[in-house]
Amino acid sequence: MTAAETWPPLREELRGLEPYGAPQLSLEQAPVQLNVNENPYGPSEACAAAIARAVGEAASSLNRYPDREFVALRGALAAYLNASGGSDVTPDMVWAANGSNEVMLQLLQAFGGPGRRALSFAPTYSMYPEYARDTITEWVVGHREHDFTLDLDHARSLVEEVGPSVVLLPSPNNPTGTALPHDAIGVLCEAAGDGLVVVDEAYGEFRRTDTPSALELLPSHRNLVVTRTMSKAFALAGGRLGYLAADPAIADAIRVVRLPYHLSAVTQAAALAALGHADELLARVDDLRAERDATVDWLRARGLTVADSDANFVLFGTFADRHAVWQGLLDRGVLIRETGPAGWLRVSIGTPVEMGQFRTALTEVMEEL
Ligand SMILES: *Cc1c(COP(=O)(O)O)cnc(C)c1O
Repeated sequence: MTAAETWPPLREELRGLEPYGAPQLSLEQAPVQLNVNENPYGPSEACAAAIARAVGEAASSLNRYPDREFVALRGALAAYLNASGGSDVTPDMVWAANGSNEVMLQLLQAFGGPGRRALSFAPTYSMYPEYARDTITEWVVGHREHDFTLDLDHARSLVEEVGPSVVLLPSPNNPTGTALPHDAIGVLCEAAGDGLVVVDEAYGEFRRTDTPSALELLPSHRNLVVTRTMSKAFALAGGRLGYLAADPAIADAIRVVRLPYHLSAVTQAAALAALGHADELLARVDDLRAERDATVDWLRARGLTVADSDANFVLFGTFADRHAVWQGLLDRGVLIRETGPAGWLRVSIGTPVEMGQFRTALTEVMEEL
């Protein structure tokens, strides 16, 4: 090997890998940004002012380390969960970090590791295998059906056979939008034995009316972990706050692997202020759900195949050359995501105006195909 290939002295399995991330283009390059499932509606002026005030107050004591146990924030998150599908969630069941991605990494640091396995079902969130790799946890992946649901017999027997320490189940799933029914989660919690079953509800607030939250199952399964984030429905992706609810022993155990003072005083202040404006921040979720359902209908009426979605995005296809479609949309100022199984594309739900621009652009691109 030449010097260039061994410098810097990176772990062998990391050599040559690209860091994960969707293309991040400026608003000039792509005025309509529908690629990373953000909430298109920012905080109101009142909410932004409340966040600024709270951060301003925190600023005067930034010489001190923040509250390591983020007690006030935990209490507010527990209260929010109890108003959002949960019940009897207590502050000691809550853990938070800088985005639910950090929560997920901490879960694998604490419960995965060498000689242990993490399991999910593809297509699934593309970050999970990276956290398994980074924590030297063996990554095992089962499959989903053609409509992206789970075949429970396959899923149960794979869990029993693999004996994973951590099962990762996004619900609604990214990139497909598919939510899991309660019975599937219950069966997998039983099958996992002492292994953790993590239901990633990053998009939980967007679920359709008949879709339950896994929070309801917490009292019946002590190995169930439900993660949430303020990045999507909560319109606070830039604030970086994700969290989980689980048995207090699980929340407690994560403290062993977290970095000292991992949640800055600024983050805690901003998240707490935002939670005080939860109703306002979530006010547009119903609009986004309606826009999502309309988008599904419109795409189907164009003859496309569209996955049922409980999230704020829609996976559609299939295209012989999906990259050409993606590029055609981008040439018209509309940035969506080239992700999912071959031939599929994912569009995040934006404002009605943005979705109109998406429909116009896609119509033009499909006429050219
Ligand atoms: C967006 C997303 C998250 C949340 O990420 P944050 O780190 O909280 O911003 C978690 N899981 C899935 C599946 C996601 O798509």
